[in-house]
Amino acid sequence: MTLQERDKQYLWHPFTAFGEDDPLLITSAEGVYLHTHDGRKIVDAISSWWVNLHGHSHPTIAKAIAEQAHKLEHVMFAGFTHEPAIELAENLLSILPKNQSKIFLSDNGSTAVEVALKMAIQFWYNQNITNKKKVIAIEGSYHGDTFGSMSVGARDVFITPFNPYLFSVEFIEFPSQEKENQVIEQFKKLVCKGDVGVFIFEPLVQGASGMRIYRPEVLDELMAIARDQGVVCIADEVFTGFGRTGKNFASDYLKISPDLIAMSKGLTGGALPLGATSCSRRIEEVFRDSSANKTFYHGHSYTGNPMSCAAANASIKILLSAECQNSINRISHSFNDFALRYRQTDNRLKSAQRLGCILSLELESSSATSYQNPLRKEIYRRFLSRDILLRPLGNILYVTPPYVTPSSVVENILYEIESFIHNSSRR
Ligand SMILES: *Cc1c(COP(=O)(O)O)cnc(C)c1O
Repeated sequence: MTLQERDKQYLWHPFTAFGEDDPLLITSAEGVYLHTHDGRKIVDAISSWWVNLHGHSHPTIAKAIAEQAHKLEHVMFAGFTHEPAIELAENLLSILPKNQSKIFLSDNGSTAVEVALKMAIQFWYNQNITNKKKVIAIEGSYHGDTFGSMSVGARDVFITPFNPYLFSVEFIEFPSQEKENQVIEQFKKLVCKGDVGVFIFEPLVQGASGMRIYRPEVLDELMAIARDQGVVCIADEVFTGFGRTGKNFASDYLKISPDLIAMSKGLTGGALPLGATSCSRRIEEVFRDSSANKTFYHGHSYTGNPMSCAAANASIKILLSAECQNSINRISHSFNDFALRYRQTDNRLKSAQRLGCILSLELESSSATSYQNPLRKEIYRRFLSRDILLRPLGNILYVTPPYVTPSSVVENILYEIESFIHNSSRR
């Protein structure tokens, strides 16, 4: 059997129905290019599900991992510690909002969110406060695929089978510009009742559910209302962290800092799985009690894996370099110009938005805006045939390239998108 036949025989791929297009066989990757077994070079214009920051197989990150693997590959993290994790905590706290004081490590974005939710819930429990059970989230959000993170996410077709098993959450509407005041009023009404304990959100941009961008001013207002009632605010920065929005964190656009921040995806530069949850002193204090029932009993076998931490330390160092920051600015500017041009002159797009290194285009379509929109597969195949990996969310076409993507490649991606939009409007 060929490798592809063996794949078909034995593997089950994520978010993929059996019998869908065969997966591409990738043999190596370097910079922004994925190399297929039959010699194609595909531009990874979505950073492999938004994890890659500095290009594939980055030599500095690869070296950090290899050196760490030879020294200490792993040790359990309860009762033991090591330098890569200590350094990572210091590195993260040096770039996170100033109110953050502790780092809890896990394996991925969903677990980082679970940890934040569990800390927020136990924050109330540890103080014997029993009337703050309500959790608020924003409609259309995506926080991961585990049960807790599904509970606070959009109750869409992906989770229909599990709906009866999820805990109950109140959803406020998405604060799009025309609805800001309405959403603030809705939130105020909910929070005023005094029974809300947790508010979780993707700061400034909802990723997986459609790359929807909203203004920092409205999030600040929501957080101010939450703060007045002591509600624990969780920023899910799994997608937005590490430069994706143009600043290190989306929270850097805000005046009010969240109590808990979930991170993953770009944390290791896309090289190894790792999740991190940071908390503020306010949260930490409530767990500073040696009685057994106030301890945070949560952990994963691979918590604090030294190789993942070493990759993260190397990636953060690259992220903070002038060269990388310049690239982030360069891509942000290209995307901004593109979005502005389309917003002013074109009616073939329902909307063109950008935030940092995220460009999000809502295409006109006879079907409704949703993941199920048939444009998804059409666009995916069309761009792949031109050696560009774009994986639209239905009729939302977005670009989230690695920061090392050269201008010529960025311009080519935008050119291809432009010609797609023009051609499709003539059909
Ligand atoms: C991807 C994502 C997650 C889930 O992360 P995984 O590592 O895929 O479990 C959670 N929150 C947000 C905002 C994400 O984009």
